[in-house]
This record gives sequence, C-alpha cells and structure tokens, in this order.
Amino acid sequence: MSEKLLRGMILVFLFPWIVAAAEPKGRMEIVWIDVDGGAATLIVTPERESILIDTGWPGFDDRDPKRIERAVREVCKLDHIDHLVTTHWHRDHFGGVEGLAKRVRIDHYWDRGLPDLDSPDHDAKNFPDGPGRNDRLGIAYRKASEGKRKTLKAGDRLPLKGDVRAIVLASGGETITVERRRGSELKSTAGEANPRCSEDVPDQPVDRSDNARSVVLLFELGDFTFLDCGDLTWNVEKKLVCPVDLIGRVDLYQVTHHGLDQSNNPLLIKTIEPTVAVMNNGPRKGGSASTVATLRSIPSIKMFCQLHKNVLTSDSDNVSPELIVNKDAKGGGYARASVEPDGSSFSVQFEGGSPRSFGSK
Ligand SMILES: [Zn+2]
Repeated sequence: MSEKLLRGMILVFLFPWIVAAAEPKGRMEIVWIDVDGGAATLIVTPERESILIDTGWPGFDDRDPKRIERAVREVCKLDHIDHLVTTHWHRDHFGGVEGLAKRVRIDHYWDRGLPDLDSPDHDAKNFPDGPGRNDRLGIAYRKASEGKRKTLKAGDRLPLKGDVRAIVLASGGETITVERRRGSELKSTAGEANPRCSEDVPDQPVDRSDNARSVVLLFELGDFTFLDCGDLTWNVEKKLVCPVDLIGRVDLYQVTHHGLDQSNNPLLIKTIEPTVAVMNNGPRKGGSASTVATLRSIPSIKMFCQLHKNVLTSDSDNVSPELIVNKDAKGGGYARASVEPDGSSFSVQFEGGSPRSFGSK
C-alpha cells in the first residue's frame, strides 16, 4: 500500500466529516477523436478546463467537426472549448476549424503564428505551407480566431487553472532552451546530457515543410505526463533529445505524425520511454511499418494501439486486432485516457471497451 493511500485512509478514519465535505476532484481526460489520419485530441483538466489540439480535416459534410462536437458535448459533457491549439498549418490539423467554430464556442486560439499577408515574401520561408491570402481555410481560421488568437513560442505555457501544466517544448522549428526547461518546474528527468545520442541514427534530409515547425506540448499532472508533438519530423525530434534531453520520461505518447516514418525518430522514443502509445492513423494514412517496428522494440511500452488498421501494410505490420480502436474502416470510435486527480495512475480504453490501468512514472 502506498504511503499516500495509507495517509488517506487514516484521515478518513479520524476525520470522516472533513473528507465528506471536500468536493471530489475530477480526473484528467484525454480523448483521441478519430479524424481518419488527421489529428484532434481533446484534453479536459480536473478543473473541467478543455484544450483541443487540432481540428481534423475539412469537408466530408463536416465529419470531423461533428465528431469533435460529440466528444465535447456527449463524451466530456462540456458546452464549449476553452483553448484550441493548432500545431501547424496543414489541412488535417486546422481544416476543421471552419465547421467546428460554427458548432462549439471556442474561447482562445493558440498557434505558431500566421503569415503576415502584407509582406508575403518576408514570411515565405517561415510559412512554407501558408495559409496564404486566398486559402479558404486560412480565411476561415483568421475570421473564427479574430481577437482571440495568440502565438506560442518554445518555453511558453498554456495559462491553465489548477495543477495541470502544459509547456511548449517546440514551435516554429525552435526548441525550448536548456535553461528554460530546467526552470520549468515540470517533474522530469529532462535537462541533462543524453547518453543515447551516441547511438548511430542518421538524420533525414532537411524537412522544409510546416511539419518541422509543429507546436509540441508536454502536459503534466503530478507524476503523469502526456506528449503531443503534432507532426514534428525526424531532425527536429532529435533536437528535442540531443545533445540534452529536453523532454524527460513520458507516460503517454501520441505517436507523432500519425505514425509516418518521416517522424518517430528512435532517439526520441527511446529517450522518453513511454508506457502507452496511441497512434492516430487512418486506414490509408500513417502507421508506417518502420514506426510500428520501432515502437515494438521499446521495452517500456505496455500498450500500443492504433485508431485504424493500416490497410496498405501487412497484418504483421499492424498491432494485433484487439488493439485497433476502430474495427470498421468507416471509423468514428475514440480512444480515451483517464488520469487520477493526483496523476498517480491512468487508464486507457476504447469506445465501448474496458479500461486498462497503468501506474505513472
Ligand atoms: Zn498530420
């Protein structure tokens, strides 16, 4: 029995009225909404504050905004989104804003910055993939976020109430400084030289796309940590762990970039040593065989699930069928993690399934 639990039991025994009067603290919830190879991850803190990271694809009769709305209202019983974070300017990450903003009130918008439409040449290098002046989705995003938008830089924190902390480890291709990371107060093994960096993992060609500029967020509640790197790619992933580990160990890992092999540098995954990995792939997007192999080789991983079976690779390059969230290719089923209010443990379950529990590190 843990000391914390024992102390709690003694407290209940000696002072039952105190415990009865205390408001039960909620759990932290994380929901991976199936957006068919895009990204939409909803986090609800014990204070019932909500953070949505990315909004899935546009089109398909607003399929993804409707699925996000269901997660907000029916799964998490909320009537609005406090914070929307857009990791980068690709359609599978910000395309759903237009439809979502019509359905659900969004109070704050956070992103890595938008190109200045008055000096497009100046911004061409920093915003290789727009959104440009005539991009319909960009126009919709600017309109929905007007007066409510702020830029996130590496080292920033989301202004959350309560005990959950969310720190930006990278944004716009820049990573947090060692000094800032050490001073971030987040529980972790981060900020030290990483012996794994001597392993021979070659770089990939420089990625000039917006993926390499993704906003990377690390959430912490007590001992529990959750990492969402958006679509960050190989060489910048390495910058996050070499020569100094700027992340630390992680309990729950959203497999980066839908599991594509331009991402998921083994140096990063071996360093963070996740316990659970959730891959937000689609039937024909993400879930590369080499990423699956990398994740399978990590001894710390006790559960690794995919939102879909990748139909383009063989059965043996997918997780076993019971770890595929959507058995049916038409999808729409979510995976969900539920974290104890003190962060000491968490459970993961699929829609309609039973939970599996894990201790936090
Ligand atoms: Zn993506």
